[in-house]
Amino acid sequence: MTLPPETVPAAGQWDAAVAAVRALGGDAEIQLVCHVSPDGDALGSMLGFGLGLRRLGYTRVRATFPGKFTVPTPYAELPGVDLLVPEADAYPAPALVLVFDVAGESRLGGLAARVAAAPVSVVLDHHASNTGFGTIRLVDPRAAATSVLAEQFVARLGVPLDAEIAECFYVALATDTGSFKFDMTTVAVHELAARLIATGLRPGDISRRIFDSRPFGAMKLTGEVLGRAVLEPAAAGGRGLVWTYATLADLARHDQPPYVLDTLIDPVRSVAEADVSVLVRQVAEREWAVSLRSKGAVDVSRLAVSQGGGGHRLAAGFTGFGEPRDVVDIVRRLLDDFLN
Ligand code: 5GP
Ligand code: MN
Repeated sequence: MTLPPETVPAAGQWDAAVAAVRALGGDAEIQLVCHVSPDGDALGSMLGFGLGLRRLGYTRVRATFPGKFTVPTPYAELPGVDLLVPEADAYPAPALVLVFDVAGESRLGGLAARVAAAPVSVVLDHHASNTGFGTIRLVDPRAAATSVLAEQFVARLGVPLDAEIAECFYVALATDTGSFKFDMTTVAVHELAARLIATGLRPGDISRRIFDSRPFGAMKLTGEVLGRAVLEPAAAGGRGLVWTYATLADLARHDQPPYVLDTLIDPVRSVAEADVSVLVRQVAEREWAVSLRSKGAVDVSRLAVSQGGGGHRLAAGFTGFGEPRDVVDIVRRLLDDFLN
């Protein structure tokens, strides 16, 4: 996708977003929302922005996400976590809603209606598959993370970066760029990282906490799930497919919460013999969260969108049904369709 820089976000959207915040009194209710099963970018961009609102003197700011109120341990000590409330405690009728890292309303669960009913909803996102919801749209598919947009927004509101806000945005940027490894890792990304680190962050400490620390049970679980991976060199038009799955019983056996599987696609996608990798994670009886990755040959977001999901060209996901084999059958068939 090549768009002239001035069109993303569309002209006037930044001004509208800044005006929407400035129009509010200091005691207005502001609700921040990110996607279900939040990751580092969802939480980091949302909490960093929430802290920015606090610095501006807004006293009634709450942050939430749909579904079970579990904050993954690596993010449990992010600055601003005290802004987080369970979905049930979100403001029923906030004056302003801001939505972070949400590609489409299906990722908002029970909060979708709240967002739709808000007098103003500002959407900050970077998914190519973003469905176009929200009244003010700060959506840039070329941004490496939603926190890139959140940081610009905070700056446009006149809030200076401090170490707390910077830590939130840094965690978001580091997670969504795969520790500054992915294609989106541009000069601008490193410049932003440099400005964030300059507030006094310790990247080594943050990385250890976010990426390099997990319970023994999670490590053992990873070993089992990787041990059952299947390589299909002929699939995806000969480019190769590798896949594995993890069930709720696997989690229970190792006494682990679902989020420990959030990054398990990374060792799977490292398999050299396969362009496409798939991790099928059980969500409920016959319901699975499907993670798709490509090394470049396949636009997996197209595949995900065709199944009601979304994402980026080389990293996407959707909800699948049946047994893991049924889900992989669908992926295999779609790959054949898309590559022919
Ligand atoms: P992951 O595989 O890490 O869960 O997600 C990869 C990318 O695909 C992320 O950008 C995520 O937002 C997106 N994604 C994953 N699952 C879904 C889904 O069910 N619906 C949509 N719209 N996007 C998804
Ligand atoms: Mn993101």
